[in-house]
Amino acid sequence: MKQQKKGLNTICTHFGQLEDKEFKGAISPLYLGTAYAFEDIDVKRYPRYFNTPNQVALAKKIAALEHAEAALIFGSGMAAISTSLLAFLKAGDHIVIQKIIYGGTYNLVVEEFEKYGISYSFTDGFGAEDFEAKIKDNTKVIYIETPSNPLLNITDLKAVADISKKHGLVSMIDNTFASPVNQNPIDFGIDVVIHSATKYMGGHSDICAGAVASTEANIKRIFSLAKNFGGSLSDYTVWLLERSIKTMGIRVRAQNANAQNMAEYLYAHKDISAVYYPGLPSHPDHNIAKKQMKGFGGMLSFELNADFNASKFQKSLKLIKPAMSLAGVESTVLSPTLTSHSLLSAEERKRQGIADGLIRFSVGIEETEDLIADIEQALEKVRKERELAI
Ligand code: PLP
Repeated sequence: MKQQKKGLNTICTHFGQLEDKEFKGAISPLYLGTAYAFEDIDVKRYPRYFNTPNQVALAKKIAALEHAEAALIFGSGMAAISTSLLAFLKAGDHIVIQKIIYGGTYNLVVEEFEKYGISYSFTDGFGAEDFEAKIKDNTKVIYIETPSNPLLNITDLKAVADISKKHGLVSMIDNTFASPVNQNPIDFGIDVVIHSATKYMGGHSDICAGAVASTEANIKRIFSLAKNFGGSLSDYTVWLLERSIKTMGIRVRAQNANAQNMAEYLYAHKDISAVYYPGLPSHPDHNIAKKQMKGFGGMLSFELNADFNASKFQKSLKLIKPAMSLAGVESTVLSPTLTSHSLLSAEERKRQGIADGLIRFSVGIEETEDLIADIEQALEKVRKERELAI
């Protein structure tokens, strides 16, 4: 009998779980061993070979979540990104990369690739045509990130995958912002899907990890570099990550709903001049997002009116915490100008559309009314301080 395909929350909860044969416990046992028998055994197990029992089990769950054949788990998102990129690039090769990507990935490319003799071009925009325009004879990889950080631009997955196939390239995506709950790029023809599992997969702001999912052949190729680079994740954290992913579907769907509510509230607010959220019909890429995303995600950005001090506003929030990372169950805000994009010149930030008053909002699972009340009291505090200063 053909096995029925399981739904998201069933995969999150059960898929790839290790059986506790001895005690019949309900969860995966944790194997912390670093030494495994080698005689008469076909798989040589070792944590840095990415094949301990817990690593293998969790990789199966992540592969299933991303509709992939196989997956590998890393010690951080950047370990997954750097190893995956370098598995497909060698001296003399060229890569086309999206104009605005995560700062760590940008630094990896501009600070390290020259040493390896790898050249790169950043696109001028987010459209598939922007990627095709930069392809050269020696291009091997196209790298995208959608939704992008911090303005939530959307790149058309199918259009990029088609261009990549037409030119015989490998397409890669950083799928962190969407999470596998909201977006499965392999369904649209993208080859390699990467995550900072520190974000929605971990979901509680207490795990640093990364993951990559793709075909068996691609994962084998990435593994052959991964074992040399040594970026594996400790089994204890692998076990914690498996536990976290059990609730990922529920968490992320709650975050989607909360973010949609917050985006609509902010959009209608007289003190807010702009809201960037792919779930709003006003978002320029709303129609592409609708085509390729199952939910619009928990991330949004907004701009306060010019007469509001963004820094004072963030300091006045009580429930929502200013924090560098994202995607936890607790709502957090960040000023790209003061943090992630502070090293860019003011002109470059302006060119990228990042206003000084822009605030990136990672929406958690609190009640929407409590988040709104927190924003209202912070705006009121800044308003009063401003009046006193006049
Ligand atoms: N990709 C995105 C979109 C991120 O936001 C981050 C981290 O903030 C990373 C990759 C890097 O992940 P990690 O910090 O787990 O190395």
